[in-house]
Amino acid sequence: MGLNVIMMGPPGAGKGTQAERFARARGLPKISTGDILRDGIKRELAAAVEAKARMDRGELVEDATMIEIVRNRLLQPDTTPGFVLDGFPRTVPQAKALDEIIDERGKGPLVVVDVVVPESELIRRLAGRRICSTCGTNAEPADGASRAVCGKCGGELVQRTDDNDNVVSERLKVYTRQTQPLVDYYRERATFRVVNGAQAPERVAHELDTVIGDAAAVGAAMGTEPT
Ligand code: AMP
Repeated sequence: MGLNVIMMGPPGAGKGTQAERFARARGLPKISTGDILRDGIKRELAAAVEAKARMDRGELVEDATMIEIVRNRLLQPDTTPGFVLDGFPRTVPQAKALDEIIDERGKGPLVVVDVVVPESELIRRLAGRRICSTCGTNAEPADGASRAVCGKCGGELVQRTDDNDNVVSERLKVYTRQTQPLVDYYRERATFRVVNGAQAPERVAHELDTVIGDAAAVGAAMGTEPT
């Protein structure tokens, strides 16, 4: 059975880390639109480079650009068993476009999880967050390292340019204004779930596993599976 998951939540909710973990456990690709953009900037791809100024200000990139990126990514064969989306959709037009893409694909139900964390905790987490300048992922320092070194690849850990104080407060405002309405868009669906992201990561992972499994079963029973 195909399993399509959207991991929603504000910046700093831990959804990227959790999405990665869940995707790995289920053998699904984790698709992060933020990672795709950052990778595109590194490789100097025109659309991503154009998006950089908005990203650096904490604003959203245009819907048309993002929808195109996701539509192309979901055509890749590794998404046949499903996918875990992190950072998309972020607006109602993006969510509507994704519904259309999923209808066209006809590969399993869409499970939507909202990872909820209080704002004070988000600000604290974002101030301390570092990513690896080599492998690009959210990273923990190597064991016992006093230097900022990635535990995975040894690369230098740096703060994301959009994790500084001013940009963080803009990103949280943008989230409340543009992405929070998505919760209303999805709330009534039988496959929508909420998870408390303020708990220990292990606990969040366990809850996610349970609620996604449950929602996927509900979705499949509703006949969203391809015939
Ligand atoms: P993230 O890594 O998900 O926090 O994304 C970093 C930045 O990339 C965001 O602040 C936006 O500028 C841009 N971005 C990522 N995904 C989207 C999206 N679905 N819609 C619009 N902008 C996005």
